[in-house]
Amino acid sequence: MRMRFQTAVSLLYPPRCLGCGEIVDSDFGLCGTCWRDTPFIGGTVCESCGTPVPGKADGYRTECDDCMRTPRPWTDGRSALLYEGRAKRMILALKHGDRPEIARPASLWMARAARPLLRDHMLIAPVPLHWTRLLKRRYNQSALLAQALAQETGLAVCPDLLTRPKRTAALGGKTAQQRFDDLAGAIAVHPRRRHRLAARAILLVDDVMTTGATLAVSAEACLAAGASEVCVLTLARVAKRP
Ligand SMILES: [Zn+2]
Ligand SMILES: [Zn+2]
Repeated sequence: MRMRFQTAVSLLYPPRCLGCGEIVDSDFGLCGTCWRDTPFIGGTVCESCGTPVPGKADGYRTECDDCMRTPRPWTDGRSALLYEGRAKRMILALKHGDRPEIARPASLWMARAARPLLRDHMLIAPVPLHWTRLLKRRYNQSALLAQALAQETGLAVCPDLLTRPKRTAALGGKTAQQRFDDLAGAIAVHPRRRHRLAARAILLVDDVMTTGATLAVSAEACLAAGASEVCVLTLARVAKRP
């Protein structure tokens, strides 16, 4: 029944490529051309932030220069895409252009990148938006990604585990240090959700990692509230190609 209903829906609304709008044969998200054009991260990556690094893994922990300079409060991190070209356009559309349907295929790519991080009973939580931004955008793109990822992995999700009581200025154009200073105390664990993270591994989800300041403040809030460990997963990482 469900199958038949889905077939009827896909006849009415055939799946279209997220990149170019071309009709594609599955809900996978991208046509062949756009797939080849999308900067998926592969090969050797930094274990802390998921950015590609040159060379082969040598059995020791692999970390990029950024993560060696700025030790991360979380255990491991991964990212599905490089934040450039087609990936950047897709993420901007998800963020500002009312294209929430991008979250589902994006969560498939994120689940694949996150495979080494996933543990039993891990709790997925999105990085929060301040409510004034939420009003303007109507949805929190990170919460959409977190929810789609929970469906994909079967892990539990807590959309309001973290809150953002303090409004911070936009982070664009600031140095890493300014970003960290601005964000101090801006993110907190929701007092009514504390019991959900006690002694539990948390997977923090965001759309883009730039300096990692927002993720660091979020991870610290989780650890201070009793989480056993925190891993981070983003759809895209701002990074230089190796
Ligand atoms: Zn396409
Ligand atoms: Zn790194």
